[in-house]
Amino acid sequence: MKILVVNAGSSSLKYQLINMDTREVIAKGLCERIGIEGSLLKYKPAGKDAVEVKKNMKDHTDAIQMVLDILADKEVGVLGSMNEIDAVGHRIVHGGEKFSKSVLIDDDMIKVIEELTPLAPLHNPANLMGVRACKAIMPDTPMVAVFDTAFHQTMPYEAFLYGLPYEAYKELMIRRYGFHGTSHSYVSKRAAAMLGMPAEKTKIITCHLGNGSSITAVDGGKSVDTSMGFTPLEGVPMGTRCGCMDPAIVTYLMEKLNMDAKQVDTYMNKKSGVFGISGVSSDFRDLDDAAKEGNERAKFALDVFAYNVKKYIGAYAAVMNGVDAIVFTAGIGENDRNMREKILTGLDYLGVDVDFEYNRTAPRGQEVTISKANSRVKVFVIPTDEEMVIASDTANIVFGK
Ligand code: ADP
Repeated sequence: MKILVVNAGSSSLKYQLINMDTREVIAKGLCERIGIEGSLLKYKPAGKDAVEVKKNMKDHTDAIQMVLDILADKEVGVLGSMNEIDAVGHRIVHGGEKFSKSVLIDDDMIKVIEELTPLAPLHNPANLMGVRACKAIMPDTPMVAVFDTAFHQTMPYEAFLYGLPYEAYKELMIRRYGFHGTSHSYVSKRAAAMLGMPAEKTKIITCHLGNGSSITAVDGGKSVDTSMGFTPLEGVPMGTRCGCMDPAIVTYLMEKLNMDAKQVDTYMNKKSGVFGISGVSSDFRDLDDAAKEGNERAKFALDVFAYNVKKYIGAYAAVMNGVDAIVFTAGIGENDRNMREKILTGLDYLGVDVDFEYNRTAPRGQEVTISKANSRVKVFVIPTDEEMVIASDTANIVFGK
């Protein structure tokens, strides 16, 4: 069974073709600059050289058509024809309170996702462009929506209600939703397997640390709290996002810098985080280099990030009355050994005993345990695989397997 996984952004579209029988990625790639001059298709068939095609893509339908054409290309393709694709799984960022699991996409479902646009004005319309493009070109191929928010729908009201008037929740849908759900769900399941315990019996803190970062408390296999909130701006300071701060800063900025709502939004989403603190970069590799060269603001940025992640670990251990495992995943979590060391130093009160030597030398790209054998709390590094979760959910919903 072959599943095409599509992650459509406003001007980009990532795709992977996965063989569910072997759980192998057959081909993957990316369309860039859709609707902008200089559109580019990147394509990488497994075990073969990558290919780049420069061709104008005026919209997402053009992009999907190009993806299908290259997948079935006589020379570099991996399919006899696009009819070999059994189903398509779409990443949809916001499912609001409507979706607590993945669903089969039909016209009604598209309408419901559309209605959630105010909650994710940039993401949901872009995701839907991917859905509509596939529907136009392959109308008979079943499609499934997999939501970033769905895994967090198990949070209790204590965790999802903000201290605002209750009407803000009931009438404006303002509450904590949480994001990166497919990743937190996947790595927490893998962690339970690595602990050798049924997921229902485990207390796990998952740290998805990438360009966007979120930390989740997974109690008994269910998300009970997560650091991102109404939008992916809340939580730890990220690459360019500010994370948690006193909300009074918003009005203060508007008054002092004469900003309107849109400008404050850009300030907090694009100009803040470790990029804003350091003035150097949003990329942790650049920050590491700058800090080593003595750049004080780069050091501040890294320290602020580590401190905030550690604070969430402490908070979530309190929320769950203990923790069996802490998991690191995504770009920073999987690769940045210095950052893991910074975060994990001084957690011995929790029963965390890290093998810092092994943390430095452990191979990348595979599941490893970086805590010592006798550590009460295990610490795992687990590469996330959101595409595989989307493909499995799709196969499950469409074919029941
Ligand atoms: P996204 O949220 O866009 O999916 P990723 O999970 O790919 O992001 O994470 C990207 C970030 O991971 C980069 O900005 C960089 O800071 C960090 N990163 C990737 N590789 C390394 C590395 N070897 N050392 C330190 N940081 C890294």
